[in-house]
Amino acid sequence: MIPYGRQDIRPADIDAVVEVLNSDYLTQGPAVPRFEQAMAERVGVSHAVAVNSATSALHIACLALGLGNGDLMWTSPITFVASANCGLYCGAEIDFVDIDPVSYNLDPVALEEKLRAAKVAGRLPKVVVVVHLCGQSADMKSIKALSDAYGFHLIEDASHAVGGKYDGGYVGNCRYSDVTVFSFHPVKIITTGEGGMALSNDNAVAERMRLFASHGVTRNTEQMTKEPDGPWYYQQVALGFNYRMTDLQAALGCSQLSRLDEYIVRRQYLADRYDHLLGDTPVVTPVRSVDASSSFHLYVIRVAPSHRQALFEHLRGKDIGVNVHYIPVHTQPYYEALGFKSGDFPEAERYYQEAISLPLYPGLSESDQDYVVATLKEFFSS
Ligand SMILES: *Cc1c(COP(=O)(O)O)cnc(C)c1O
Repeated sequence: MIPYGRQDIRPADIDAVVEVLNSDYLTQGPAVPRFEQAMAERVGVSHAVAVNSATSALHIACLALGLGNGDLMWTSPITFVASANCGLYCGAEIDFVDIDPVSYNLDPVALEEKLRAAKVAGRLPKVVVVVHLCGQSADMKSIKALSDAYGFHLIEDASHAVGGKYDGGYVGNCRYSDVTVFSFHPVKIITTGEGGMALSNDNAVAERMRLFASHGVTRNTEQMTKEPDGPWYYQQVALGFNYRMTDLQAALGCSQLSRLDEYIVRRQYLADRYDHLLGDTPVVTPVRSVDASSSFHLYVIRVAPSHRQALFEHLRGKDIGVNVHYIPVHTQPYYEALGFKSGDFPEAERYYQEAISLPLYPGLSESDQDYVVATLKEFFSS
């Protein structure tokens, strides 16, 4: 089976993990701050907080921005469920903003319309989570302008977009947001097994995220409300979680990060090659935004709804591990029970009827890619 995505693990990665296993610290040692600093320098941001998943990073980002009971959080319906669940963890109410039919990212025009109505109703969101689907940044300049005008916080769910660029800088620099979140799950761009990171230029937000990631416990006397009893003293000042990344994971992350450029070059090369090879087929290939350079976590094609399932089954039947990203979150039973229903976000639902993710990862060979394309063409010619 040719999978839709796959990690790339090399001997240097294994050596880096073994080195930690032979060291004094398996967790809370030097590898985690080393990984945080390397990533912060790489993307050009002040603070990086490594955690055990992007889901945890989204949760601590929402908490640090003060999202709580009675607040509203909005996100895109075309994403993994974690982008919405983080708001529910905080007791907030979730709503969605439909996608742009060309980029498949949250549509700034739909956002503005919804904000105008929400302002009249006195129901403005406290946080909007923007998802950079497939690794291509959303239109952050327009969305940031709306955040300034309407006074909500912005989180970029850049789980797909590690190594992507926007407006001349790296995704993760938080130029247009309060917090950016990365995922290091094995199907994503670089991996730590499970893992994630929350990035910010705001000192107070970063400090609160660090607190929430580690039990709400601090050893920083400036955060304490009482005088320390002695040098052993620590204080719990918030209800936090254990979302820490281990040193084993961080060492793997550092090693993987050193090959990020290589991965992006390869993914973009294979994406360009798909564009070219699929040029004379009825499929719609991804449209490139002029402001962004995609990391190409996913290569999503669209086909007529009447062909989608048959093509999917044809490819799977020929050992090609195609997938669908994503089922609109508002149509999940859990969200339907909260009051959402089919028809609420038409562009997202239309996209879902037509989308297929083709295999794309650095280790995909040209000959395997040719086989994917030939198998797809065979479907349309039969
Ligand atoms: C993978 C993913 C997540 C969750 O990442 P984990 O590291 O697995 O928790 C969140 N949002 C999006 C868009 C994702 O693709």
